[in-house]
Amino acid sequence: MRFQSTLIPLAACCTLAAAVVAQPVRFVKRAGVTWPAPFATPPRSMTPQPWIDALNAAVATGKIPSIPRSQNVNGPLKYPDGVNPADPSVCNWSYSQCEGPNDITSAPQGQVAINFDDGPSQGTNELLNFLQTNSQSATHFLIGSNILTNQDAFQQMAKSPLHHLADHTWSHPSFITALSNEDVVAEIGWCMEIIFQLSGKVPAFWRPPQGDADNRIRAIAEHVFGLTLVSWSGDSNDWELREGSGSVGDSPAQVCTNIHQAFGSLTSQGKGVLVLEHELTDQSVHAFEWCTWPLVQQFNLQARNIAQLGDTPGKPWYANALNNTAPVSAQQGILSMQRQEIIASAGSGNQTRTMSSTTASSLTISTSAASSASSHKAVASAAPAPTSVQIGHTSTAALSASRSSCASAAALLVTLSVSAAFFL
Ligand SMILES: [Zn+2]
Repeated sequence: MRFQSTLIPLAACCTLAAAVVAQPVRFVKRAGVTWPAPFATPPRSMTPQPWIDALNAAVATGKIPSIPRSQNVNGPLKYPDGVNPADPSVCNWSYSQCEGPNDITSAPQGQVAINFDDGPSQGTNELLNFLQTNSQSATHFLIGSNILTNQDAFQQMAKSPLHHLADHTWSHPSFITALSNEDVVAEIGWCMEIIFQLSGKVPAFWRPPQGDADNRIRAIAEHVFGLTLVSWSGDSNDWELREGSGSVGDSPAQVCTNIHQAFGSLTSQGKGVLVLEHELTDQSVHAFEWCTWPLVQQFNLQARNIAQLGDTPGKPWYANALNNTAPVSAQQGILSMQRQEIIASAGSGNQTRTMSSTTASSLTISTSAASSASSHKAVASAAPAPTSVQIGHTSTAALSASRSSCASAAALLVTLSVSAAFFL
């Protein structure tokens, strides 16, 4: 079991929360989108160029540290000789519980996070019915390949106002730290993409499989996709329970003991509870129903999804919506707005771009059209650039810059149009 001691840091989410357009949730399977084969890291030939451009821009501006890849696909985590996974410059969470500054690793005192990994799967329908009966919201860290192969269960989840959808990679690699930057982008990106395409919601949170993440992986998730990493403060080991009966490790009774111990240990230290649980099988869901849920009442804890932790109302559930019942903002794709900031800051253009604080929890970016807009007409007509977006954020800042180069303004519009063309 693993126990964390740090309270939740404020998430440095970059979240589209305004330029809000009321639109229905889309449950349309988009024609023309070819999904990668399930349960394998998607091939680089399928990775959309805008994702690679975003990665390259983040690397070029020093946002992605150059940490060697871990070496083991199976077996214990191992980096090349001379690389210490616990060193703060590497900061591998599964190895040393080293936390990044924006990671969510635990719950505040008096609260318990309701969260499940690896769905949609065999246990999902029963879990959704139980949560619905109890009017309880939960975060689901979903595997893209499982969404592809269990779309009915996914849509049951996505249509409910209760269920918070989050990213758990496309194929659930054993060690994402063993993958190249490009493959990490594919693993995280294709899971985000299928959630976006089938629900209209852009995830704002992710959990690395097995908690395997170092500063390179954190940075790719954060700077390319705007995702906040979520780990855990107690481990149920319920993933070892098989469908129907049996286990590859702990028995159902031992899993229940693990959960009891996590609640007892964390609350006795004055902490909240964030236990790792799964919706893989009926037995893992039963562990939640019969062990975790009664403990929530017994310990008198407020049960919340991951986004709701902390002060009410918590953080936006998605990059383009505050929650499942709020309006969804216009969103061209899954990339973090930080990418467009990077591109915009790489040159100057004949436009004024302003980022100013409006409240303690939001920032506004507005881009006024250049007076020489006619020179961009061919590009702009292909896909008009948004003129105003609002980005949710946890800190205040102000940035104002005047641009004079027509060429770089056109480059920004080209980038936006490429994204729009690909994703729409
Ligand atoms: Zn998992």
